[in-house]
Amino acid sequence: MAVFENIKKDLEKVSGFMDLSKEEIGLLLKHKSVRKAVLDVNGRKYDAWRIIHNNSLGPGKGGIRYHPNVSEDEVKSLSFWMSLKNALIGLPYGGAKGGVQINPKGIGKSELEEISREYVRAFHEHIGELKDIPAPDVYTNAEIMGWMLDEYEKIKQRHEPAMITGKPLELGGCLLRHDATSKGGLIILKQFLDKIGKDPQKVNIAIQGFGNAGMNIAHMLHEEGFNITAVSDSKGGILDNEGLDIEKVKLFKKENRTVVGFNGPKEITNRELLELDVNVLILAALENQITKENADNIKAGYILELANGPVTAEADNILYKKGALVIPDILANAGGVAASYYEWCQNRTGSILSKEVLVKKLEDRMITAFHKVYELFEEHKELNMRSAAYIIAIKRILAAEKARGNLNG
Ligand code: NAD
Repeated sequence: MAVFENIKKDLEKVSGFMDLSKEEIGLLLKHKSVRKAVLDVNGRKYDAWRIIHNNSLGPGKGGIRYHPNVSEDEVKSLSFWMSLKNALIGLPYGGAKGGVQINPKGIGKSELEEISREYVRAFHEHIGELKDIPAPDVYTNAEIMGWMLDEYEKIKQRHEPAMITGKPLELGGCLLRHDATSKGGLIILKQFLDKIGKDPQKVNIAIQGFGNAGMNIAHMLHEEGFNITAVSDSKGGILDNEGLDIEKVKLFKKENRTVVGFNGPKEITNRELLELDVNVLILAALENQITKENADNIKAGYILELANGPVTAEADNILYKKGALVIPDILANAGGVAASYYEWCQNRTGSILSKEVLVKKLEDRMITAFHKVYELFEEHKELNMRSAAYIIAIKRILAAEKARGNLNG
């Protein structure tokens, strides 16, 4: 199913509660700009997008994804979530996203660099520190951000490090950025367990996706003594009910580019991982992983969405009825963009913050957002946590639109 259709359903859920007008719903469903280019590199063509959903609170902000399934529908959806996420955690940003339809696994480094530079040549007029600020997402990383910054500055003939975040440290990157999404997710999960009175030492966890977000949160959880019994990547998963040695799994993944084949644990499919009888399921791969087809089989009591959009609107309803609580993406994975914001502030003011200061800022921001969402959720039991988070974010976006005179009501 098209991902943006899910968003419409999520919006329907909150529009009654918020008493949104047709004009407000229309505004939330409309993207400010949808730009597409075909990148022509060494005779091969790649569809590419840069889309701004809303920029009433500030410049567009959101990552660039390289994946074979990237489509306009997906980039539109991801940019919508970025608007809400940035508003929810109080950043002075709108929401944007980019993507290239490509399988980067089959592509050499020099071609990948050329594609990344071509992306900037295609969109440079529409990005910039006060227009729209890209960052990494699935299968893009600091190195790619470095190439993109270099290309942009060559075109513009000036330095402008704040035009992109998630850069290498040497180019003005932030000490926190590479694992901030996971750190933010960990902060939220611990706050949540505390709220519901669950002892972290008695919680077992399965993680779908062992890339940047999934692997880093696995490492952090493992260090804090949580029991991680299963992890997976695109090739499949591994299960050990006694608990996986995450540091060894990480090493194996680095050498073999998959967790499958790691010595000892039982091999499982991705579907089996989702349906394991664990306390917490962390989704850190892609969207549409829990749908109406498998929602009934989910046994985890709590689901943390580190990925964007991994649970469809229909599945959300099924899980809610079963009593499974979903900690929504726009809250759970907001640590990445929060760190991007600190990077952008540093670049714009020429300052450099220590890791300790950055961690404290991140904690404060994530904890404040969590409590706002959880309070609203507790106050209105008819809402799930996603709806509560949407309501807070949408109120902020609409207030900015009203203050600009863009809404009549
Ligand atoms: P990544 O490319 O580093 O990792 C993705 C992982 O998912 C890989 O291990 C891949 O093998 C695995 N995967 C792909 N398809 C799978 C499947 N069907 N089943 C199981 N595993 C599968 O990407 P990432 O940066 O870790 O991003 C993961 C998710 O987190 C995405 O939804 C992304 O939008 C979201 N996110 C990431 C960040 C960030 O800072 N990295 C920030 C916010 C949100």
